[in-house]
Amino acid sequence: VPAPITASGLSAALAEWTEALGSAHVSVDPGALRDAATATFPTASTISAILSPGTREEVQRSVIIANRHRIPLSPISTGKNWGYGSSAPVLDGVLLDLGRLDRIVDFSEELAYVTIEPGVTQRQLYDFLQAQRSDLWMDATGASPDCSVIGNTLERGFGHTPMGDHAGSACGLQVVLPDGACIETGFCRFPKSKVGAVARNGLGPSFDGLFFQSNLGIVTRMSIWLMPAPEYFQAFFLQTEGTIGPLVDALRPLRLNGTIRNVMHIGNDFKVLSGSGEYPWKESRGHTPLDRPTMDKLRAEIGFGRWNASGAIYGTRVQVREARSLLRRALGGIARLQFVDDGRIDFIRLIEPSYRFVTRRQDLRRALKLLPPLIQLLKGVPTDCFLASAYWRKKGGIPDDKNPDRDRCGLLWCSPVAPNTGKAVEELTALASDRLVEHGFEPLISVSLLTERATVSTVAITYDRDVPGEDQRAVRCYRALVEELLRGGYPPYRLSIGSMEYADTGGPYGNMMQSIKRTLDPNGILSPGHYLPSDR
Ligand SMILES: Cc1cc2nc3c(=O)[nH]c(=O)nc-3n(C[C@H](O)[C@H](O)[C@H](O)COP(=O)(O)OP(=O)(O)OC[C@H]3O[C@@H](n4cnc5c(N)ncnc54)[C@H](O)[C@@H]3O)c2cc1C
Repeated sequence: VPAPITASGLSAALAEWTEALGSAHVSVDPGALRDAATATFPTASTISAILSPGTREEVQRSVIIANRHRIPLSPISTGKNWGYGSSAPVLDGVLLDLGRLDRIVDFSEELAYVTIEPGVTQRQLYDFLQAQRSDLWMDATGASPDCSVIGNTLERGFGHTPMGDHAGSACGLQVVLPDGACIETGFCRFPKSKVGAVARNGLGPSFDGLFFQSNLGIVTRMSIWLMPAPEYFQAFFLQTEGTIGPLVDALRPLRLNGTIRNVMHIGNDFKVLSGSGEYPWKESRGHTPLDRPTMDKLRAEIGFGRWNASGAIYGTRVQVREARSLLRRALGGIARLQFVDDGRIDFIRLIEPSYRFVTRRQDLRRALKLLPPLIQLLKGVPTDCFLASAYWRKKGGIPDDKNPDRDRCGLLWCSPVAPNTGKAVEELTALASDRLVEHGFEPLISVSLLTERATVSTVAITYDRDVPGEDQRAVRCYRALVEELLRGGYPPYRLSIGSMEYADTGGPYGNMMQSIKRTLDPNGILSPGHYLPSDR
């Protein structure tokens, strides 16, 4: 538990940081501090300064100074942790912005990996692979091309391709500890090791996990595994008017036997609508939340299902052909299955106006907006198309330069884990839906088949922070939801900065975590409260 920040301690530390990093890289500009402490929901912490080191050695120096003066320091990679806290720390302190550490340190086409620093963004990695004319694909999240790879991976974020479980494709961490020492994990700690980026476990106890969702170190380098571009790629989409359970039960065997290798996403109608544009103010006559009858009407007009899934098959032409027939067989009678490629999208685009004219009902324009970026994500190509969903309840359009924090978009993600069974997913989604509707929000829910055996649902509480009372209502809803899900046996895979206490289960596990924290960070200066409780 760090001592409270004193004015004299802070000013002495600022003088030393300025000397170590240069005045251009130590900011106390009130506007910048306020922006950095602003998230997509109310936050309580204040930021006293922002440090922007340019090298690992400068990170080490910054930490040693923070320790000397007992000033809490919270690292961010790009600070776009939207819906979970953006760049705001859990408790008051100084922000350590690692955005200037943006080097791609190593790359192997042969072994399909890249070693990067925390400031490397999804866009930068994608552009790098393109410039190398690489035959490798990265994975991308639906957040923004300007989000980091490492910050997301440390939060155990996920994307859409077979490499979508980010923490599962990362190894060889370089970590600055709270006392300023630097360690390397896995086999990287052996001075002449040639296998640090390709073999995860190392020799003896493995420490990688200590630095994910924690406050035990600052990761300054990490290796990320990539996938070879498949000989053939085939996207597919599913729609059902039924419940989600049978769909999950039909997909699970295909996920378990490797027919489906990627992180498939299944979204309900509200989720799809929110991803494809603004809130339907006209159709709902200005009312929120969007009610079920209006949603049903819109769904029929736009042409998507009550539940909608996107996935892809990656392999040789023969494998893809075989997988297509396995999918047809498994999903017949359960969901409408469509295989889509770029040619088909061009065709739909061509016929869309006359189709709309003839049917006088179905408007495919929203689907056409969503399909190309969804296919991009299935190929690991970053897009900012889905950032529009953060503006769902904002009136006045979506700006080109999207910034949900600045634009006072309200967003809180609640992300529970469930077994990959129809029964569990149906129970979880029904519970989440009831809680959201009860609190006046649309049930914006997607379910991702993260691994063969486990799903993660992302439940979005989306609102307009400029509407009085909505912030408080959203927080109440979030807490009620997390607590009920915990009671039901569905813990969250990730937490927002205002709710870190849910990570503390106490007992021997809690005691062990506390003693590790006390050993590594006796002054409690690193990201206090972040996934490990602190009562300052
Ligand atoms: C519309 C929308 C879609 C989204 N889609 C996805 C999605 O598909 N998948 C997904 O996972 N998320 C998604 N997000 C959530 C979020 O925006 C992303 O996860 C984003 O990548 C996190 O921000 P960042 O990369 O800037 O990480 P940061 O904000 O930099 O880091 C997150 C946290 O990790 C810790 N951390 C960061 N760097 C370090 C370091 N070097 N050492 C130690 N600790 C560190 C810090 O505690 C930090 O607060 C979405 C958000 C929105 C609004």
